[in-house]
Amino acid sequence: MTAPQQAVTVLGLGQMGAALAAALLDRGHPTTVWNRTPDKAAPLVERGARAAATPQEAIAASPLVIACVLDHGALHTVVAPVAGALRGRTLVNLTSGSPEQAREAVAWAGSLGAGYLDGAIMTTPPGVGDPAMMFLYSGSQEVFDTHRPTLAALGDPLYLGTDPGLASLYDAALLGLMWSTMTGWLHGTALVGAEGTPAAAYTPVAIRWLTAVAGFLTRYASQVDAGRYPGDDATVDVQIAAIGHLIHAAQDRGIDNALPELLRTLMEKAGAAGHGQDSYAALIEVLRPAPRGPAA
Ligand code: NAP
Repeated sequence: MTAPQQAVTVLGLGQMGAALAAALLDRGHPTTVWNRTPDKAAPLVERGARAAATPQEAIAASPLVIACVLDHGALHTVVAPVAGALRGRTLVNLTSGSPEQAREAVAWAGSLGAGYLDGAIMTTPPGVGDPAMMFLYSGSQEVFDTHRPTLAALGDPLYLGTDPGLASLYDAALLGLMWSTMTGWLHGTALVGAEGTPAAAYTPVAIRWLTAVAGFLTRYASQVDAGRYPGDDATVDVQIAAIGHLIHAAQDRGIDNALPELLRTLMEKAGAAGHGQDSYAALIEVLRPAPRGPAA
C-alpha cells in the first residue's frame, strides 16, 4: 500500500498558481484552491480540485499552503485578514519578492505560529511539474525537509540555506543573467539577420557557444573568489578590441547598440582601473562596491 499524498492548498490561480495546482493534482495530491477571481478555479475543479469559497476555508483545508499571487502586497491582502487560520500550518510562498520581504514574511509567519518557507520558481508555467526545472527554497531546513516530497511534484527542489532571503536573491540574480543572455542573443540574431540568416539557423550555433561560455564561468568563478584574475586566456584589452568589431558591424546595419556599448564602457572602466591585462572576470571589481575603509 502506498501512503496517501499530502493535502495541499494553493492560493492564487493566475498562470503560475494554476500550473502549480495542476502539477499537484497530476501527482495525486488532494488539492484545495482559492483565487480572488473565482472563475479561474473551474478548470482545476474539473481535474479534481476542491474550490474553497474563502481564503480562510482554503487554508483550513490543508496543513501545507502554497501561495502564488502577484506580489507580497497581494499576498498580504489575501492572508492578513485570516492570518489566524495559519497557526500550526506551513506557508510556502512562491510569490516573487525581495530578500527583505522574505525576511519580513518569515518573522510574520513565526508570530502567527506558522511554518514558512520562501521560494522562487525558475521556469514558466509549461515547465511546472518537469523534474529538470529548478524551484529554489530558503528558510527553515526543517520545513523544507518535511515538505520536500510534495514540493518535488512542482519541479526539482533546491534548498539554498536558512536565510529566507536567499531564494529571492538568487531569483533576482538568475533573472538578470537570463535577460542579459536573451538580449545578447537577440542582438546577435538581429546582426546575422541583417545578412539574411534566420533566427532558427543562428540559434543552434548560439546555443553551442553558450556551452563554451558556461565553461568560462566555471573557470572565472574561482578567480572571482580568489580576487586574482590572471589574463592567461584572454585579457580585458583584447576583449575591448573585439567588442569594437561587434559595435562597428551592428552600427553599419542600423542595429541598436545600447547593450554592447554598455559592456564596452564596463570593460574600459576595468582597463582604466589597471585590469587591462587581467581576465574578463576582473570586471567584478567595477561592478561591486569598493570595500569600505577602516572606520575613523
Ligand atoms: P498572473 O497570471 O498575473 O496571476 C496573478 C495572480 O495574483 C492571480 O491569481 C491574481 O488574482 C492574483 N492577485 C493579484 N493581485 C491580487 C490582489 N490584490 N489580491 C488577491 N489576489 C491578487 O501572474 P503569474 O504569472 O501567475 O505570477 C504569479 C507569481 O508567480 C508572481 O509573483 C510572478 O513573479 C511569479 N512567477 C511567475 C512566472 C511566470 O512565468 N508566469 C515565473 C516565475 C515566477 P486574479 O486572478 O483575481 O486577478
